[in-house]
Amino acid sequence: MRKISDFRYSKDGSTYPTQPKPIMPDLTPTLTRSEIRNAGDAGTERTFRPNYLSFAGTYQCNLACPHCCVPIEWPDRLDIPTAIRFLEQASAAGIDMLGFTGGEPFVYPEFVIAVTRRAAELGFRFDKLMSNGVWHRDPEHLVEVFTELKQAGFTGKLGLSVDKFHGIRIDKLVEFCRAARSVFRRDTIIALNYASRSPHLGLEPIRKLARELDAVIEWSELLNRFLLVSDDFTMTLNWNHLAEVERAEHLGGGHEWDGTWFKEDYCEGPGQALIVNPKGEVKPCCGFASDLDQLTIGNIHTDSVETIIRNGREHPYVGQVFRDGLTKIKNDILAANPNALPGATSNHCYFCWYILTRGLAAGQKGGGGKVGDWIAERPKLLELGVRTKT
Ligand code: SF4
Ligand code: SF4
Repeated sequence: MRKISDFRYSKDGSTYPTQPKPIMPDLTPTLTRSEIRNAGDAGTERTFRPNYLSFAGTYQCNLACPHCCVPIEWPDRLDIPTAIRFLEQASAAGIDMLGFTGGEPFVYPEFVIAVTRRAAELGFRFDKLMSNGVWHRDPEHLVEVFTELKQAGFTGKLGLSVDKFHGIRIDKLVEFCRAARSVFRRDTIIALNYASRSPHLGLEPIRKLARELDAVIEWSELLNRFLLVSDDFTMTLNWNHLAEVERAEHLGGGHEWDGTWFKEDYCEGPGQALIVNPKGEVKPCCGFASDLDQLTIGNIHTDSVETIIRNGREHPYVGQVFRDGLTKIKNDILAANPNALPGATSNHCYFCWYILTRGLAAGQKGGGGKVGDWIAERPKLLELGVRTKT
């Protein structure tokens, strides 16, 4: 999971290239964050104006997925009083939606529960709490943690990452889904995320999960995405654009340069957010380039919400992304040097990550990823396969 896309990948897919069997789900269509923002902010001046807050209380995770861009080896944890102080400031600034990501948020459950409790008191709406769904000891452990979360006031969804990188322990995922359904008593309590090269690829682990849950996977024309549906569950499937960055860089292939330029969206979907990492650093989005130091716009230990929003607007790169768009940045790079890029890519966040790590964006030092020199101290990432999955 993570950054997540929700957690922590790239943009949601908005189209599907073939004509799968349509169904009409008994489900009130929910708007994506991007749709909500575009609808609500039509006609307003383009600028950085976050309306979403997300905390990653810990980087740590019980998995080590090959495409993960989280430094899961880092021990930093956000302390609860500091996070709650920032939450209260965000509420006073008019931010009213909260999500959780990580690492695996449930390896630090006391953080999630304490922040949820205060957010519920402040009237926050809850977005997704992203999880890999396989962190628990047994079903009793799940029921215990979910019950505490429900009692704290959590009304959002549990975002479950199921793809070839995460979806190994189908038995554990089934336990997770059934325990969540029984504690929260909502058929829509779980939303699924999968990372692949295109929306119609990479569904095999979700199909396995569906079989175990006596569910079917169908395409919804209404929601423009797949759904997993059974008597007990209605889960939306959210696609995340997979890219070979960070620990996946060495997988190679250069598939991201697919010859098509991304559609400009001013990063409204994964952006317009205050994403707080376990060091307290604040990022303006949950796109996977946001782990780079170049996208840090403040720190909750030292900066107020007001200062951080102002920093975002004045940041030479972040301010431009939300004001003028990535397309302008791309055009400026190519105007200065037509050969600066290997090709065109439809993946916004990959483009962003590429130009930031290579120092191609005006006013930004390069570095980050495995190809560059880290701007800040950065321990060596674990190599693939060293860490065993649990
Ligand atoms: S290792 Fe996997 S489950 Fe853990 S944070 Fe990274 S992508 Fe998510
Ligand atoms: S700023 Fe970069 S990483 Fe963040 S959403 Fe936009 S393209 Fe993705």
